[in-house]
Amino acid sequence: MLRFAPSPTGDMHIGNLRAAIFNYILAKQRNEKFLIRIEDTDMARNIPGKDKEILSLLNLFGLFWDSLVYQSHNFSKHQQFAEFLLQNNKAFYCYCSKEFLEQKKQEAIEQKIPFRYDDSWAEICKDSTKKPVIRLRGSQKPITYRDEIKGEITFEPNELDSFVIIREDGIPTYNFACACDDMIYDIDYIVRGEDHVSNTPKQLLIRQSLGYDKHIQFAHLPIILGQDGKKMSKRDRASSVVWLLEEGFLPVAISNYLIAMGNAVPHEIFTLSEAIEWFDIKKIAKSPVKFDLAKLRFINHAHLKNLNESDLSMLLDSSSTPNLSLGALARIYLEEASTLNELREKIEAIFAPKDIAKLYEGQDFSKECMILYNILCAKKQNLPLEYEEFKQLLMKESNLKGKAFFKPLRIVLSGASCGPELHQTYPYLRLMIDKILSLKN
Ligand code: GLU
Repeated sequence: MLRFAPSPTGDMHIGNLRAAIFNYILAKQRNEKFLIRIEDTDMARNIPGKDKEILSLLNLFGLFWDSLVYQSHNFSKHQQFAEFLLQNNKAFYCYCSKEFLEQKKQEAIEQKIPFRYDDSWAEICKDSTKKPVIRLRGSQKPITYRDEIKGEITFEPNELDSFVIIREDGIPTYNFACACDDMIYDIDYIVRGEDHVSNTPKQLLIRQSLGYDKHIQFAHLPIILGQDGKKMSKRDRASSVVWLLEEGFLPVAISNYLIAMGNAVPHEIFTLSEAIEWFDIKKIAKSPVKFDLAKLRFINHAHLKNLNESDLSMLLDSSSTPNLSLGALARIYLEEASTLNELREKIEAIFAPKDIAKLYEGQDFSKECMILYNILCAKKQNLPLEYEEFKQLLMKESNLKGKAFFKPLRIVLSGASCGPELHQTYPYLRLMIDKILSLKN
């Protein structure tokens, strides 16, 4: 089984989404189940509602799961596992106070040596500490595993001292809960961010100490860098999945980009289900990748162009049934827009209620705009089908020509002084002329 294990402690980052997509793809390719595990062990940092937000984002991206669990529901199982480790002398109670450990850390800093927990300290503060923690005994042997992206990684025994698995309040730590749950749900392949590389030997040691020897594969994804080459932080707005959606990037384009980044892909533009056919996690580059908004815009544009008129009209105006003229118009305007928001802005300018005197005030051709506007209002029921005929009619009626005709005509019809050719847009604008000419009261 594959899993995605988000913590409900913050907004979904594109790195999280990338891990979710890859786990989902692997589940489909291997014909295994896909589990969502909400890792809510850090009670103080959990944000109410974040779990639901993450789940609805996964839905939006088409990452449908077979089962959903909350880690906190398994606490009693984690405690039983810890009990088993205590009985087998693989874990022990540690009574060290925070102050004592802090002092030992300071000493290590002064001696310029890395801080390592020493098992002989376990009962030093026994008289003053009411609630002990439980620590897993550190490893005596190196721990090695093969990462599907990074190759073989070894951790020496001195890098793995005895670490806390159950806190003093009885709550399991992240590594313990994670390793136990991966065993309980028979997870056999984990894809996650490379910030978890140093957790992996701990989780493997937990499995070994519990006598569980089923092989598990790991792939740790290189971090995503911002355009400045630094690790993308929460301050980079583009790192937030919600922000990208709000900017008008389509889920299909975002997942296309996240699958393609730092990867060797057979085509530039594809859908998630196409990627399932050929995706190979071993092709992901080891080095960090830079997030490139321009590339995402290019991919988004290509996916917008793949939408039909009815889909486009629904995306632009979800309140109504599809308006095919609006969809057709949007397809023409797509030449100049890479996101839904950019497209929406242009389309909205056409239909914005017009306070006509104010709208054209200060424009180069305000007088000409008014003339054309009035003619259009008078003729709006009988506008010719053909653009050529329409143009001739308006030129004749207005006595305008050249730039003093075309520019104001474009402004009146589209709400903008530049844009697609009017002969392309006219057939659709004509069908919606009432709405275009509507005045603000
Ligand atoms: N809750 C962890 C995170 O969001 C999951 C890590 C893992 O996949 O094991 O980073």
